[in-house]
Amino acid sequence: MVTRITNHEKIGRALACLQRALVPFIESRLRPEQKGVWQKSGPNRSTGWNASALDAKECLEILNKFAVEVFHFERDERAWVNELCVIRNRHAHPTHANGFSDDDTWRALDTAERLLSAIRSPEAQAVRVIRLSLKDELLAPTQHEVSPQARKTPEIDSEQRQRHIAALLLENRGEGTDWGEFQLGDTPWSKKLANRFLLGCLLDYQIDSELAWRNAYRLLDDILGNADDVWRAITAVSAEEWNSKRTEYKLHRFPAAHNRLWSIGKRICDQYNGDARQIWEGKDSRGACEALWDLGAGDQISRMIAGALADCGQVKGAGDVKADRYVYRVLGRAVLGDPTGPETAVRLAKSMYPPDPWQLDAQLWYVGKNYCHASGPDCARCYLAPHCAYALEHRVG
Ligand code: SF4
Repeated sequence: MVTRITNHEKIGRALACLQRALVPFIESRLRPEQKGVWQKSGPNRSTGWNASALDAKECLEILNKFAVEVFHFERDERAWVNELCVIRNRHAHPTHANGFSDDDTWRALDTAERLLSAIRSPEAQAVRVIRLSLKDELLAPTQHEVSPQARKTPEIDSEQRQRHIAALLLENRGEGTDWGEFQLGDTPWSKKLANRFLLGCLLDYQIDSELAWRNAYRLLDDILGNADDVWRAITAVSAEEWNSKRTEYKLHRFPAAHNRLWSIGKRICDQYNGDARQIWEGKDSRGACEALWDLGAGDQISRMIAGALADCGQVKGAGDVKADRYVYRVLGRAVLGDPTGPETAVRLAKSMYPPDPWQLDAQLWYVGKNYCHASGPDCARCYLAPHCAYALEHRVG
């Protein structure tokens, strides 16, 4: 059985995808004088240009205004923009008479996906997942047509389940992707910032994430005196001397996690001139992941770093999830009905969202940390519950 979210919600989620895609698209193409023209053309735009404050309505209006002059849209693309303006208005002002039928919703999602594909946005895939989930719902048997046994069997609609869970994770992925000071749009990082980022990531495993980053900053700012070149500062002493500082520095509960900062730092100095940026320079996300693995960062941390680099605009391309205990617990329960291990989790994420499994990572982590506890998962609060194999099998949520 498939539990439906409303058509109004589906369109709202597609509009959110449009907004996420259009803000950077507009920001990168509009020249300063065109931004000024836009600011002057509306009654409530007295403050300066601020792309991140644009909502879906404003994004679509900007596309409309500069459709030919800036965006060089063909006739079809201009028609999609106009149609989406109407859809956005209907969505913002719902009445009994203008509710979205299944046909309306299909068409709205299809139009949004076409526009996003035309501007080569990965958000097109997210809208596609919502559209296919609508198709699943339309084809799904009603509750009284499904036998109790079939309802209990997670495998009965495994593909549909994966698709629905992927859709929910993608729709919610705004939360959990904040990389703070490292999120500079497409602006390249300084050497110091890149080294700072890599150090924090290398400590961020098997301990609380916030503690790992606090410890990284403490090492950088207090212990090493805000050194410009952290890897040379760490390797300025011998490996033995560095290792002997573990109990004094208290960076990580595992000796190996402390010790490897020296060995990885040495390789970064020897192979990359002490500059972490050179590890991923000229590579895509998967290439960066391999280079990090070669350095000794380990499977899961290499995946996380590569994904974070993509989130922060430092590399392009798709990546895999970092299958930590939160991620593999949620994927196992939600898709298979029971917790699973890291390798299966990576495979499941690939199958659920082939264009870029990394996009599922932040919300898998978030659900694992907040709801999907090792004992006593809080399914009643978890938004995956309507499609989660574990929740359906145990009749919770
Ligand atoms: S619904 Fe329950 S079991 Fe499923 S992912 Fe959420 S918390 Fe975990």
